[in-house]
Amino acid sequence: MRKLLLLAVLSIPVPMQAQTASGTNPLAADVERLSAELNPQVVAWRRDFHRNPELGNRETRTARVIADELRKLGFTVTTGVATTGVVGVLKGGLPGPVVALRSDMDALPVTEQGDLPFRSTAKTQWNGQDVGVMHACGHDNHMAILLGAATALARMKDRLPGTVKVIFQPAEEGLPPGEVGGAEQMVKEGVLENPRVDAIFGLHVYPYPAGTVVYRPGPMMASADTFLITIKGRQTHGAVPWGGIDPIVIGSQVVMGLQTIISRTVNITEAPAVVTVGRFTGGNRSNIVPESVELEGTVRSFNEEVRKGIHDRIRAIATHYAEAAGATATVEIGRGTTYPVTINDPALTERMLPTLRRAAGADNVRLGPLVGTAEDFSFFQQKVPGLFVFLGVTPRNQDAAAAAQNHSPLFFADESALPVGMRVMTNLALDYLFGGSAATVTGR
Ligand SMILES: [Zn+2]
Ligand SMILES: [Zn+2]
Repeated sequence: MRKLLLLAVLSIPVPMQAQTASGTNPLAADVERLSAELNPQVVAWRRDFHRNPELGNRETRTARVIADELRKLGFTVTTGVATTGVVGVLKGGLPGPVVALRSDMDALPVTEQGDLPFRSTAKTQWNGQDVGVMHACGHDNHMAILLGAATALARMKDRLPGTVKVIFQPAEEGLPPGEVGGAEQMVKEGVLENPRVDAIFGLHVYPYPAGTVVYRPGPMMASADTFLITIKGRQTHGAVPWGGIDPIVIGSQVVMGLQTIISRTVNITEAPAVVTVGRFTGGNRSNIVPESVELEGTVRSFNEEVRKGIHDRIRAIATHYAEAAGATATVEIGRGTTYPVTINDPALTERMLPTLRRAAGADNVRLGPLVGTAEDFSFFQQKVPGLFVFLGVTPRNQDAAAAAQNHSPLFFADESALPVGMRVMTNLALDYLFGGSAATVTGR
């Protein structure tokens, strides 16, 4: 089916003629017009979401607003996907591939400190504590941009050669204890099937100059895995250590052993990685050797093989060091939030680069560095080719390097980036459906 379409596109001169100032797809001029026309609505959505943030797996109002809008636009809507997720399908008037666009929906337990007129005053409970709630990671922008793109695409429905699936995903920031959700759960519930998705696109706001689009082929954001090592020795008097097995000394050896994973076994010319022990807990007074200790930490990597290798080394070091001392160790890796490496499909990235340049302006698109945070968009990319990009939101008259980071109570997103994001997402979908960029690549 896809091959046939590609041949059709290559043999018909129309898309090539359309590769003029207006762009690669024949609807690019419409996108340009609609990004201006729809911008007041996109801004209004963004402010409404910002004022009404909800934590992961609790995005019920958010989901209702999104589902209502998508239904009005003529999408076939499924709600309750991975708890609160919303999926909309728009079948174009012409045959073609299926492209997915994804936005996350959740906010964070952060009390907003800025003075926006539409700032959040929401409060809730998180881990038994009273907390403020804020879209401190900027997912309000992502939702508004995707609703804007959905509106534009709905207006072109009859002329679309293929199907658009919009995925509004809950709980990107992690889950309440004991719950399932997020991208991994959406994939398990079949969000990439029926109709089967051929490619997926997503973006994230970031403290780069407003309107900048930053991309990276291949690995882009790190994997993240939490580990917990419990070392069980034998309690004894601190003055008679030979009467027991000291888990503090063994735990210390394990911490030092873990330091050799990156320094001695990871090929750092291929991809960097990090192993950090962030918690070392055990004992309660000076003259008691405790029964057990706990080490908790995180692993970050940019390569799935390296990631698995590090996990194996952590298990081996903890259990064998403990065994050598007559103790036992249990190792749990991947407790709570555990995300794969965010890997942009290199061919898809190359194919869509002209789209990014056209949508954001060539001067505003640049290659970015590796980023040590993680994204569960990676679960979609494990199943289908995907491209994830950063959208700059720091006001142009400010120093982006000094701007408040995502998750800060002062995180600020300049709304001048919204129409850029909307053009990027809409044109990624259109260029993919029309196959215009594929024709360009094939012709090289
Ligand atoms: Zn975040
Ligand atoms: Zn985020």
